[in-house]
Amino acid sequence: MAETKRDYYEVLGVTRTCTVIEIKKAYRKLARQYHPDVNNGDPQSEEQFKEISEAYAVLSSDDKRQQYDRFGFSNNLFEDFDFSSTFSEFGFGDIFNTFFGSGSGGGFGGGRGNARSRGADIGTETEVSFKEAAFGIKKELEYAVDDICEKCSGKGAENDDDIETCGQCGGAGKVRVTRQTFIGNVITTATCDSCRGSGKKINNPCRQCRGQGHYHIKKKIKVDIPAGIHDGDRMRVAGKGNSLGRGSINGDLFITIRVTPHKSFKRDGDDVLAEINISFAQAALGVKLEAETLDGPERINIKPGTQPGTKIVLRSRGFVQLNGYRRGNHIINIKVNIPLRLNRKEKEMLVHYAEGRKEQIN
Ligand SMILES: [Zn+2]
Ligand SMILES: [Zn+2]
Repeated sequence: MAETKRDYYEVLGVTRTCTVIEIKKAYRKLARQYHPDVNNGDPQSEEQFKEISEAYAVLSSDDKRQQYDRFGFSNNLFEDFDFSSTFSEFGFGDIFNTFFGSGSGGGFGGGRGNARSRGADIGTETEVSFKEAAFGIKKELEYAVDDICEKCSGKGAENDDDIETCGQCGGAGKVRVTRQTFIGNVITTATCDSCRGSGKKINNPCRQCRGQGHYHIKKKIKVDIPAGIHDGDRMRVAGKGNSLGRGSINGDLFITIRVTPHKSFKRDGDDVLAEINISFAQAALGVKLEAETLDGPERINIKPGTQPGTKIVLRSRGFVQLNGYRRGNHIINIKVNIPLRLNRKEKEMLVHYAEGRKEQIN
């Protein structure tokens, strides 16, 4: 693979005297650009990605860079380069898996050069009333989670002396595996099969968690549901998801909020929409009424001659803005009822009224 290679510095678009930081920057930018997922596995991009990765493998190491500067290309320059830590450093775990295949049980979920394992995120739902959504509420809710086992403090053993160091990985929880890939042999890290990443061997497993270090229980949590929350919004509570036992990082808990619909109000952004039915006479003559709002009943004044569809706006009686302090408005749509039936006296009066205004009637 040595014949038509481009100079590594040229590949990364850096000068021969550039710093390691500049090399990293250049590589990060190019790797993003030629990310196999971004380019839908386009073979040309894949070639580019190979080329820049190889250049990076050599130039990011002081020793190899010196060797390259003195002697030029050589296959063993980039062999045994640990791409797993490079990609996790750059947050490219996904690329790593696409290109090199993940080790048994994955093992790059820990992120940024951190070998600690992380429990899964979990989800739950809770229902709040329309009014609670408007003003916010502190709520206690129950959820099921894999929590660290308190009986063995997450160690997974009945007693401390039941724990031995794993012979397979020497306690590291990870083993280095050399893989053949398109750029030669690279060293990748895989979770140890024998101890599944814990680095420990347990002779007498804890009975409560069966040696897992974590077990499934129901827990309660108090959450502050903020004012202005919407139906379907998700709240994240960091670190309240599943545990994988001692030394692991908890996943997160996601709470989906369900807002019960109100029997007469609707929500429009931060505004509350309501309706009031008045009679023809009330619309013509005006009326003082009590309107229900989120804050309780409020006096409103319907002026004489109010038309159907008139909107009465009660300022700052709506929802509190999510993560804000301002409130939306309470908007009342006025509906005017025309009487379906009239008794004889009412009819006479209306006929008299219409004749007075020279209106044509039946
Ligand atoms: Zn092991
Ligand atoms: Zn236990």
